[in-house]
Amino acid sequence: MSFTRISEIGEFGLIDRLSALIKPTESSLSTLKKGIGDDCAVIALPNGKLQVISTDLLIEQIHFDLLTTPLEHLGAKAISVNVSDICAMNANPLYATISIGLANNISVEMIEQIYKGAANVAKQYGIAIVGGDTSASITGLVISVAIVGEVDADKITYRSGAKQGDLICVTGDIGRSFAGLKVLMRERQTMLDTFAENPDMDKSTYKADLSDYQKVIEKHLLPKARVDAVKFFHETGIIPTSMIDISDGVGSELKHLCRNSHTGALIEESKLPILAETREVSDEFEDDATTYALFGGEDYELLFTISPNDFEKLSSFNDARVIGKMLPPSDGIKLRDLFGADIDLTKTSGFQHFAEEEFFEDDSDTHDHDKHSHNGHDPNGDDTDDEDDIWGERKN
Ligand code: ADP
Ligand code: MG
Repeated sequence: MSFTRISEIGEFGLIDRLSALIKPTESSLSTLKKGIGDDCAVIALPNGKLQVISTDLLIEQIHFDLLTTPLEHLGAKAISVNVSDICAMNANPLYATISIGLANNISVEMIEQIYKGAANVAKQYGIAIVGGDTSASITGLVISVAIVGEVDADKITYRSGAKQGDLICVTGDIGRSFAGLKVLMRERQTMLDTFAENPDMDKSTYKADLSDYQKVIEKHLLPKARVDAVKFFHETGIIPTSMIDISDGVGSELKHLCRNSHTGALIEESKLPILAETREVSDEFEDDATTYALFGGEDYELLFTISPNDFEKLSSFNDARVIGKMLPPSDGIKLRDLFGADIDLTKTSGFQHFAEEEFFEDDSDTHDHDKHSHNGHDPNGDDTDDEDDIWGERKN
């Protein structure tokens, strides 16, 4: 058997290879509307509705660091990131299960904290936690949530329905979660340095003053799924033509929408919703806020497209912005920068904002491992997967 390193093909390349193996199981059921390839799998129910299913994994030192993550927040985030995938299908979340892998540094009380956070946020979303699995782990804490939701068949939204001329929109603001991560990782280092310099110190007395950074930190630790946007779509009858939630950053998610919808896209830097607090952090780190917004990820906002006919209706939802337009595939996927220059988002290395090699490499281990490397995504370089066209058509 040959030995191909996962890094050679990347996360998406790996999923493609696995997808080829499980495709035959997908075709065995006529009720399966969508298998791999969207935010959720979609299954037709006998009552005419569609069921949507998703699962997401949070792993210590890859997705979170216990030094900077309150356990209640971790439990809440595990639920929210899964609800976010349900929202991306324009569906309502219903039931979740939680599975945990526990290393021996985790106490019963700590696990209870995680579940308090999960139960609290589940209540807010109106979902029930109905089971899970428990195991020992030798590699740290693992939390895996699986979630089920439902939607009327005529309201389901895939990544694939966008048409040329559709408006590209985003809820909330972007880049904030990454700003929060930067601050937390700096704080983590300060904390570790303090402990190293004062080995006899009672660690529980360590206090950090992060009050200036509350908005960005909260967004990173406690992102909220945009169930309010889905509610608005249902109430107003808007059916986004395509939708995805922002786990990896708008730059990457837009590529998924374009690839699946067979379109190109132009988004405008001047229209990206970036909070003043995010800009303050990016300035402090001498980074570029646009880079945070496009490639930071973990904002769990919704990136979606609508027909221009729905623009009026959308304007009554005051937390979504139009940031660009879907174009013919031959136009590529571009960002028009503040000076009017069009930058190819599939090959970002030419863009000065992304040219600073050290941008995502100047932090601690956790940062490097945190989300941004989980899919082999390189914010500074070509993020083209194993593509054979501008939107990286998968070879399967
Ligand atoms: P998201 O960021 O929305 O959670 P992912 O990028 O993780 O989506 O996954 C993309 C698609 O690949 C989804 O349809 C998901 O179900 C599928 N997928 C991811 N990992 C695996 C796996 N190990 N086996 C089968 N399908 C997978
Ligand atoms: Mg998703």
